[in-house]
Amino acid sequence: MRRIQLYDTTLRDRAQSEDVSFTLDDKLRITERLDDLGIHYVEGGWPGSNPRDEEFFRAVRGLRLRQTKIAAFGSTRRAGIRAEADRNLEALLRAATPVVTIVGKTWDLHVRDDLRIPLEENLDVIRDSVAFLASRVAEVIFDAEHFFDGWLRNPDYALACVAAAAEAGATLVCLCDTRGGALPAQVGRAVDAAQGAVPATRFGIHCHNDAELAVANSLEALERGCVQVQGTMNGLGERCGNANLVSLIATLELKQGWTCVGAEHLAKLADVSRLVYELANLEPNKRQPYVGQSAFAHKGGLHASAVQKNAETYEHIDPALVGNVQRILVSDLSGRSNLLAKAAEFGIDLESDPAALQRLLRELKDLESQGYVFEGADASFELLMRKALDGDRPRFFRLIGFRVIDEKRHEREAPIAEATIMLEGPDGAIEHTAAQGNGPVNALDSALRKALGKFFPEIHEVRLHDYKVRVLGSPEGTEAVVRVLIESGDEHERWSTVGVSHNVIEASWQALVDSMDYKLHKTRRAAG
Ligand SMILES: [Zn+2]
Repeated sequence: MRRIQLYDTTLRDRAQSEDVSFTLDDKLRITERLDDLGIHYVEGGWPGSNPRDEEFFRAVRGLRLRQTKIAAFGSTRRAGIRAEADRNLEALLRAATPVVTIVGKTWDLHVRDDLRIPLEENLDVIRDSVAFLASRVAEVIFDAEHFFDGWLRNPDYALACVAAAAEAGATLVCLCDTRGGALPAQVGRAVDAAQGAVPATRFGIHCHNDAELAVANSLEALERGCVQVQGTMNGLGERCGNANLVSLIATLELKQGWTCVGAEHLAKLADVSRLVYELANLEPNKRQPYVGQSAFAHKGGLHASAVQKNAETYEHIDPALVGNVQRILVSDLSGRSNLLAKAAEFGIDLESDPAALQRLLRELKDLESQGYVFEGADASFELLMRKALDGDRPRFFRLIGFRVIDEKRHEREAPIAEATIMLEGPDGAIEHTAAQGNGPVNALDSALRKALGKFFPEIHEVRLHDYKVRVLGSPEGTEAVVRVLIESGDEHERWSTVGVSHNVIEASWQALVDSMDYKLHKTRRAAG
């Protein structure tokens, strides 16, 4: 079976994107998880350009990695000096990694207009830099920058650059679509040409996503014989991002039948994808292929019922293979079959308890008429099902009372919000706390967590990711009702809850309580 090497550049290429910055701890955590997932190479950063990357290379030596080799990234030496005298190359060696990757120019336009040196001199720069590193480091990867653009404009020169790197001792030449505008057929022809020019060389592919073709271009290059694919987790990188390794891993394993991480690691994919979003402080892309929340979501009616009979009808793969789950969206809960399907998704058997099913249908009708929706509030819905089955929903605390104060003391001053809360925890213990926030709901949320955290330390793992308020018109046009949807999460999962009231604080409170109860319920369910 064909094996494909995975080279992750999330920590380097991704760090260049405008809204991402990882701490040293984040980087070490990501590296450990990528190792556990089965990624072959992790590019840790650019030691010559960023002192914080040097810290990473020191610290990463303390990790016990089983699979992953760490690579340091840099560029070919400056023109006009010897490789031995180049500070950038020296910093690469100081990183003491088993792999060094250097990027070099292969497009004549760049050599002339950016480096401003004769074309022949750039070949010397490549040869000298690669040879210098090859005699000191186990593996040297040459990133052929702008190879695909260069090959279109001046194929002989682009190929001469690739040959220079290969002949100087590069263990692998990685062909880069640095501007991200290439098309699959062009990539295929250019890869063929490179392999024709230096047949004994091993090639990799590094694509950017500016024409939304990074994954397609990478697949084409692998199809033509490249042995390594470079990319980032979730595809996020500078501009429009890099080739998405998450999609590539799933596609290579499940569709091409090639091995990259191995089937046994594939189910970790969704979890690693989420962790990277968390640490990057970015909202996960719901519609992300394979691992997104909506990737296997089916909305009521025909699709949901077909998918219940045979998932293959509307699912291109079994979501469990990549660590994802099927979701049935309940938009019309009064439909009995929708409800049963939704319950089954939570592992709840409603079919054998017709009385509970009736109770649930009645309660749902009532709640929906008040303005509740459960389509985007799975966690609230699970609590509701528990209530129908067990007579009461899981509860872990009792509210004695809360007070929220919003104060603005001057026109030019921002308002201050403060919440106090008193609640009864396990064994009748009373907790009374106060917290400030940038708004009343934020203050209430902080006070609730602070109070609950005393009894249940796992509450500190919960984070609020999204908060949406919608004003629902009432038929009489008098008493408007607001609906609040909250998305919370911990490292493993995200969940959504809903609240409805005439009062926005009360609606938020309901959604917050559902969120905390759900977290506590889920922790206990997992513990058996
Ligand atoms: Zn790149």
